[in-house]
Amino acid sequence: MTEIDESQLTPLMKQYMSIRKALPDDTVLFYRLGDFYEMFYDDARRAAPILGVALTQRAGAPLCGVPYHAVDSYLARAIRAGLKVAICDQMEDPATAKGIVKREVTRIVTPGTVTEDAILDAGKNNFIASLCPARHGAFGMALMDLSTGDFSVESFESATQAVDALLRSAPSECIAGRDAAAAGEMPTVLGALRGAPVTLVDDWTFQTDAAGQELTRHFGVQSLEGFGIAGDPEAVSAAGALVRYVTCDLLRNIDHVRSIRRNSSGEYLVLDETTCLNLDIVPLRGRPRETTLLGVLDSTKTPMGARMMRIDLQRPCGRIDAIAARHESVAWFVANRIACAALRESLDEVRDLERLIARIGAGLGNGRDLKALGTSLAAVPRVRGSLEGCQDPLLGDLLARLSDLPDLVAVLEAALVDSPPPGLRDGGIIRDGYNAELDEYRRLAGEGHTWLAEFQAREQERTGLKTLKVRHNKIFGYYIEISKALAAQAPPEYERRQTLVNAERFVTPELKEYEEKIFGAQDKAQALEYRIFSELRDLAASHTAQIQETAAAIARLDVLSAFAERAMAFGYVRPQMHGGDALRIVAGRHPIVEQTPDSERFVPNDTLLDCAENQIAIITGPNMAGKSTYIRQVAIIAIMAHAGSFVPAAEALMPVMDRVFTRVGAGDDLARGRSTFMVEMQETANILNNATARSLIVLDEIGRGTSTFDGISIAWAVAEFLHNEPSVKAKTLFATHYHELTDLELQLRGVKNYSVQVKERGDSIVFLRTIARGAADKSYGIQVGRLAGLPQRVVDRAKEILGNLEEGELDATRQPKLAKRSRNRIALDEETGQLHLFEF
Ligand code: ADP
Ligand code: MG
Repeated sequence: MTEIDESQLTPLMKQYMSIRKALPDDTVLFYRLGDFYEMFYDDARRAAPILGVALTQRAGAPLCGVPYHAVDSYLARAIRAGLKVAICDQMEDPATAKGIVKREVTRIVTPGTVTEDAILDAGKNNFIASLCPARHGAFGMALMDLSTGDFSVESFESATQAVDALLRSAPSECIAGRDAAAAGEMPTVLGALRGAPVTLVDDWTFQTDAAGQELTRHFGVQSLEGFGIAGDPEAVSAAGALVRYVTCDLLRNIDHVRSIRRNSSGEYLVLDETTCLNLDIVPLRGRPRETTLLGVLDSTKTPMGARMMRIDLQRPCGRIDAIAARHESVAWFVANRIACAALRESLDEVRDLERLIARIGAGLGNGRDLKALGTSLAAVPRVRGSLEGCQDPLLGDLLARLSDLPDLVAVLEAALVDSPPPGLRDGGIIRDGYNAELDEYRRLAGEGHTWLAEFQAREQERTGLKTLKVRHNKIFGYYIEISKALAAQAPPEYERRQTLVNAERFVTPELKEYEEKIFGAQDKAQALEYRIFSELRDLAASHTAQIQETAAAIARLDVLSAFAERAMAFGYVRPQMHGGDALRIVAGRHPIVEQTPDSERFVPNDTLLDCAENQIAIITGPNMAGKSTYIRQVAIIAIMAHAGSFVPAAEALMPVMDRVFTRVGAGDDLARGRSTFMVEMQETANILNNATARSLIVLDEIGRGTSTFDGISIAWAVAEFLHNEPSVKAKTLFATHYHELTDLELQLRGVKNYSVQVKERGDSIVFLRTIARGAADKSYGIQVGRLAGLPQRVVDRAKEILGNLEEGELDATRQPKLAKRSRNRIALDEETGQLHLFEF
């Protein structure tokens, strides 16, 4: 911080300095002064350009400020720019305070702990993570979403798993021990945050004992057994340190965080980030939402439903009973369209209950939040009514978890005006007729206003000055204004207060007496409104657990009915889940490609995979035939089925799986600084090391990033490994343009060749988009090149060379026959020794 001579400071600035010094350097202090939050010195220099406000000077101190009533939008800008903001409020009424008003930092807002709607994305969780390394390369991670109250832990056996989890949850901030963060594999793992800030905290806060105490204290429990995390020291460490950071360092109220959940990979169909990207499951890294599975499937009505669907698709369920129960419910909705439509209509009334109660429970909500809570809860009986008589077990459970809280709804409805203002202290929140004392103050204030109007008329009459006006401003309160020309005619009892260029301002004792009455009544009304509001907020907060439960049940109802709605709209069917090996799809479609506007009619295709004769399907066919689309569609159908959705097919038999792996395309992962071929090989290694007989593997053009012989060799060996290694045996779809690989079918029992059909029409080809048994007879690369617009000369010459190649090897002069010309011209430049292949 800039050198400041503190002995020269005013008492106010001394108070500022003592508060600022207690905060970490990377925090910007919003210091409440009257109607503004002010920033001084380095904070002001740093924040002014980010907030877009003017940097000024006062008594040599750089200064900038933002109006308090608009603080949310400035906070949003600061947080988006990665700043941490400490909010310092006035703890007593400046009007009655003796000396300097007492001020305190009431909370610190960081990118990972935002709860303001203005900053949050309604369709996505906003996580803060905590990462803790353990022995033997293991890691514990805790994730908290302060805006919803969601809190979970997970432990990992390796750095790779931790990286995958961080990439998947994409936290906005992560805490780690100061020393731990620099040691072992932590720097690599933290790299998966992709630039989200890492906050370093004291290492001791991660000690299991200290962390465990933090958790038992927060949850008010004797032991952590009830949460199922007691036997998981690194998870406890990560979670306890996180609670400590959020409550002690950031001074945040997390009373709405009521429980903690343990995520274990066995419960889910695991998709790594690469797979989510390759299959376009959810929008990642700024990709457009419309061309993702989420974009196609998400017709949810509520923000919590939208967030749940996103999570379901990124981390589908892995338990057969739970998946089957969801399909059963979707089937119920499909069979009961009217009930489904009625439910979805009733959900239109439900706002973001989860985030509303999170703010209210943390003592942050305003009148609008309470109003929205009231109207959302008021819709719960309609939600329940829409499914009356429903016999579906899961839907029945969900209905039983809904609370209507009629008393709370009635109080909120009676107390709150129809559209409350955002501010808390300026009144206008509580309805007339709700509180007799408040009504009385309002009447007094109102009477004052009537009196003022009468007073003005009376004075105009009495003085004969028709232009005399009673006005009001902040500094002088009420006054009488008379234009300069007539001011000399003011009666003698008027006391002059101020002279302007063209008017004079006066007061009278009578006017001042009424002013006090009005202001007094207004002040009292505002203070009372604030008190009533706080009581209502506390009342709502006392129902946090029930409201959270209700929100979660509504989110699930929303997702299930949205799946049903899409199933009906797009002709999806219920997949049959089972515990065996076989994956059979009849007339499957790619759900995203088939919805792409202006695309050709989608041609459905069948699939059969198992762990025996049909373990590996090798798909050949020309470029652009539809290989990539086909193998992706199988994986996407599997993911949809596990998420609880119906699937785009005529029939689907689906085994419960543990992971979907993909190796697709050849894009450099610049964010991780790896080259194309290296990425390809790392991803392949990851698959071979982690796949099991319960996994599904999608390999698109493996070995493309290197020379042909290398590529074929690697691809061949990979296929053999997947086939022969007893611990792997994963169902695999392998698209390749290497024809040589089709010979694998001759050697390996579990390999089957398929090809995408094309029709030759003279010199050209037509894509039929159908998959059939057997290898493609040729690759049609030249025909595709022609379709793409290669010059005819190049096409003709390529055909000539292809003919030579198909004859084989080298000619007598040891030149590759590739270079040979039918008209036998010179192929070798004698001077440079270079082959001139394309000189005609
Ligand atoms: P490949 O991987 O064989 O080069 P792609 O899968 O990339 O081919 O598909 C090429 C084009 O064909 C894409 O534009 C895709 O939308 C379209 N396509 C693929 N499969 C089908 C299908 N079954 N029905 C209709 N169009 C399809
Ligand atoms: Mg392809």
